Amino acid sequence: MIYKNFREDKISALGLGCMRFPTVEGSGGEVDMDAVRRLVKLALDGGINYFDTAWAYHGGRSERVIGEVLSEYPRESYRIATKFPGYDLSHFNRIEEIFEEQLKRCRVDYFDFYLFHNVCESNIDAYLDEDRGLFKFLSEQKRRGRIKHLGFSTHGRIGTVRRFLDAYGKDMEFCQIQLNWLDWKLQDAKAKVELLREYNIPVWVMEPVRGGALARLQPEHSALLREARAEASDAEWAFRYIQSFPEVIVTLSGMSSEEQISENIKTFSEEKPTSDKETALLYEIAAKMTEKDTLPCTACRYCTDYCPRGLDIPHIIQLYNEYSYSGGGGFLVPMAIGAMPEDKKPSACIGCRRCESVCPQNIKISEMMSSFARRLAKEPEDD
Ligand code: SF4
Ligand code: SF4
Repeated sequence: MIYKNFREDKISALGLGCMRFPTVEGSGGEVDMDAVRRLVKLALDGGINYFDTAWAYHGGRSERVIGEVLSEYPRESYRIATKFPGYDLSHFNRIEEIFEEQLKRCRVDYFDFYLFHNVCESNIDAYLDEDRGLFKFLSEQKRRGRIKHLGFSTHGRIGTVRRFLDAYGKDMEFCQIQLNWLDWKLQDAKAKVELLREYNIPVWVMEPVRGGALARLQPEHSALLREARAEASDAEWAFRYIQSFPEVIVTLSGMSSEEQISENIKTFSEEKPTSDKETALLYEIAAKMTEKDTLPCTACRYCTDYCPRGLDIPHIIQLYNEYSYSGGGGFLVPMAIGAMPEDKKPSACIGCRRCESVCPQNIKISEMMSSFARRLAKEPEDD
């Protein structure tokens, strides 16, 4: 296992994400504790010492499950990370209660890593609100040794992340972002990596294989990778890509089978980052994978000054692309659209097409807006 130096500690470069534990068949989501015990033993034996959970994973059961299983091992043999569930604003009325409950659930008296969960447009005001007092409370827990390292995760927009960093950047020790070779462009992970470089904040990676999609490519895309590295699986390519970023400390993977854990531990037994040429090949494949479903917006923003409704057209196109590519956008698109005021959503477009007259990519923006609005409202398409 590769270990990364972080402050005074050595952390395994591969971490176990605790959101995809095996469940008992036909139980409606009950976690299979025996299977989790086997996975955790395999992970620890293979050198993984980082476990990432959260208040809401597995319908609120993940912290309890991993807490119970890890409590069977010496405390110093593992690092546990969890997060404040700020995606639900009512939780800000229960900050202390939730934190104490998390310690109990995880059966620890300190967290190695604690994060502001998913800093984004819908919760940034609450996260920064001194009256709500989350930052002050967490800083106090850190002072008392109940949090070793404080950081944040985000699926938010770059301006939102910058706002958070302007306020708390000097106190943030790490940041967890979605980074993989497809989202470098599709979700503009590039901008986040560059922003974190500005602040000298190390990166924790989530979704390195995009929920498994990058571990199971179309045969023609896999074949291109085999030509370059005959021995590497699609999943290994995804991890080797992450290894090309020197600022990445931990790569989290929600491994739910013994095979996955064994294979990934093997991958992380050595550094073999993708070369510039190999990375370029991955981006070429990403372009092929997304060309059919996505619009080629370059975010030049020529169009935005022309919109009488003041819509953030490139951002909406980015969400449209994610929505189209992933066949519904998972939780990201509804979250981002839900955080917009009504008069800034795709449905606010009046179809005037002034934006289209200046778009160098000739994107039919008004059609995209009306199609997106209908799809979000789940109305049938006209075509
Ligand atoms: S067509 Fe829609 S997005 Fe384009 S300028 Fe008019 S209102 Fe704005
Ligand atoms: S002008 Fe076209 S390419 Fe540029 S941001 Fe607007 S939609 Fe995107």
